[in-house]
Amino acid sequence: MSLYLQNWHLIGHEWAVRLLAEQIAAGRTRHAYLLTGPSGVGKTTLATRLTQAFNCTGENPPCGECRPCHLIGQGIHPDILTVEPEKASIRIDTIRDLQAALNLHPLEARYRIAIVLDVHHLTDAAADALLKTLEEPPVAARLILTAGAAEATIPTIVSRCQVIALRPVPARQIETALSTRLQLPPEQSTLLARLSGGRPGWALNAAQQSGDEQTRLEQRTRLIDDLLSLLRANRAGRMAYAEDAAGRAEELPLLLDIWQAWWRDVLLLAEGSRVDPVNADQVEILMEVAQTLGSTETRSALMAIRETANLLAKTNVNTRLALDVMLLRLPYLY
Ligand SMILES: [Zn+2]
Repeated sequence: MSLYLQNWHLIGHEWAVRLLAEQIAAGRTRHAYLLTGPSGVGKTTLATRLTQAFNCTGENPPCGECRPCHLIGQGIHPDILTVEPEKASIRIDTIRDLQAALNLHPLEARYRIAIVLDVHHLTDAAADALLKTLEEPPVAARLILTAGAAEATIPTIVSRCQVIALRPVPARQIETALSTRLQLPPEQSTLLARLSGGRPGWALNAAQQSGDEQTRLEQRTRLIDDLLSLLRANRAGRMAYAEDAAGRAEELPLLLDIWQAWWRDVLLLAEGSRVDPVNADQVEILMEVAQTLGSTETRSALMAIRETANLLAKTNVNTRLALDVMLLRLPYLY
């Protein structure tokens, strides 16, 4: 890997780094960038690196070692302004303050840079105000915006930015990063990489056992254990679980997601596919179930869960009843 890619220290997104690094080297940068992609994919990290690269005084920007790189990395550079949604919205007052600050000369950096995170949360008035800055940006200013998806963002904003659409990163790349950066054991790197859905930030947080990701991992383990005991439970045991699960409505979407992913893995194995299972820590039991049930029964189990997920998401069906039916449709393993 060439030096400039390494300096950016990103997991995946080589094409985006190459494009931005070339623009900076050639002195042909744009006034505004919009980084899009799912949460945890690397938008905020890329925004920070790009901000460092714009203001780096080292040889291979972002060098990570000069004063601007250090201050920006710690989030304390006086010329860098970051705005993020408060209670899921970015208001016009915030954008006005930002504009006033952007109009000042940089205190010490080459560029004053505004990073506006999750611009899909701009109120209409705030979006109009931001648009004015995008149309006539101060000379020494740069704007870096992020959003979940370009489509979710106001078209007039999108059209005034260079859009960098970050895609999910291949699991193998995340796996390598987890083992080299965090020295995780191989099985754990593989599992987290596959569960991450291509989002390195999610995988790193889960590996460092922080926040929501860790809670979700624990929930996943419990829900898969539940599924395995249900497959061995009789009718009465299943009805009792349905009653209990119906009372935990906020967890149901996750339960249905995790169970679908688990059955998809069984189906892949039952059909002899060479695709790697998502649930990398479950391969033994997945194989056992695939061999016991075969692909027809596995497919109908997957359908039972998928149909229930659709019903619950799109209709007013009685939750308890839908779960009863779903659990009674699952195969019995003894
Ligand atoms: Zn630097």
